Amino acid sequence: MQTSTPDQNQILFERAQRVIPGGVNSPVRAFRAVGGTPRFVQRAQGAYFWDANDQRYIDYIGSWGPMILGHGHPAVLEAVQKAVLEGFSFGAPTEREIELAEEIIKIMPSVEMVRLVSSGTEAGMSAIRLARGATGRNRIIKFEGCYHGHADALLVKAGSGLATFGAATSAGVPETVVQDTVVLEYNNLAQLEEAFALHGSELACVIMEPIAGNMNFVRPTPAFAQRIRELCTQHGALLIIDEVMTGFRVALHGAQSVLGVEPDITVMGKVIGGGMPLAAFGGKRSVMEHISPLGGVYQAGTLSGNPVATACGLATLREIQKPGFYEALSAKTQRLMQGLQSAADAAGLPFCTDSQGGMFGFFLMNELPQNYQQVMKTDGARFNKLFHGLLDGGVYIAPALYEAGFVSAAHTDADIDQTIAVAAEVFRTLA
Ligand code: PMP
Repeated sequence: MQTSTPDQNQILFERAQRVIPGGVNSPVRAFRAVGGTPRFVQRAQGAYFWDANDQRYIDYIGSWGPMILGHGHPAVLEAVQKAVLEGFSFGAPTEREIELAEEIIKIMPSVEMVRLVSSGTEAGMSAIRLARGATGRNRIIKFEGCYHGHADALLVKAGSGLATFGAATSAGVPETVVQDTVVLEYNNLAQLEEAFALHGSELACVIMEPIAGNMNFVRPTPAFAQRIRELCTQHGALLIIDEVMTGFRVALHGAQSVLGVEPDITVMGKVIGGGMPLAAFGGKRSVMEHISPLGGVYQAGTLSGNPVATACGLATLREIQKPGFYEALSAKTQRLMQGLQSAADAAGLPFCTDSQGGMFGFFLMNELPQNYQQVMKTDGARFNKLFHGLLDGGVYIAPALYEAGFVSAAHTDADIDQTIAVAAEVFRTLA
């Protein structure tokens, strides 16, 4: 692009900021952490999108996870186009909702019944209400750096000690709403034991990301994940595994299959909607039967089980079950990670990576972090330079160092090699 050409992204950003807070409908899109002008997307196809200047980018966000097949997959497009012609929304049950529920249950062995909703936030919020309603208890445990949507009770950071209440991370969240949320450090076994010793009999649930993708990419140690399950069972608390990001993404059967830990409730989103507003929560029949109209836990939605969204989700789930899908996806992700690691090593840049299936993280440090505090030790200024270097080279990664990245089935080896070549250039300027 020539410098004399007006930047259409900038023009749109200025216009957007006059009518939408920060110019965006979800904060991270505003590029606040990294600075610069957000790219306004015009269209997307396969592994690419084009911005308002008609610049092409290799997309490693994929709508923050849903686009596992890439943009505009023909089978998904066909299913959605057919569904649109039949009607947008009925507010009455459809056969397609049963099909999607059956498909989810077939893929996720820990899920015996499932309720469809429209966003991960709604699914996470409803799962917490269900856990509280089913156990008759109020207190919940979450982990610092894990995100489960923006329900009030979950927008909490750690207090000064385990016996103290957590503090809201958002204005507008009353103290009374977060006082039952205990926030613990991810991968801290001693703290976990202590919390159960203190609060075990009052705990409705523990909610966790089975691979934390909202603090870049942090795995639980096997001992930590196992111990959460054991303690929940011992104390009569439910384990909620939030697979909104990891489900159908890191492996067909979710991160719970990688960890070998069975939750009582699973929260799902992103891939199950294939890019349409669709999410779900499901679990053991005995727990799910507490949901209205069977039980006393209220939960509802005008657009829940939307016919176009369910068509999109079903078509996506059918594609990802084809033989060899995850092997190919993992191989691509690993090719990218190995290439980036070699390029960083050659440049003498501190760097490490981790990945599972089509989800990855990389850190500008020598050792993989274990928790949020360690992730946040990343050199932010260096990350921002890396981000903008990649962006200028036509590679789009998340505009914040605490976000995971995603490879889709549409990314080719050539896309990945081009990404590595762009990164190698940028790394040389950073070391
Ligand atoms: N849980 C997890 C693990 C997530 O990553 C997200 C969103 N990134 C959510 C819940 C919330 O989902 P949504 O943005 O659809 O409300």
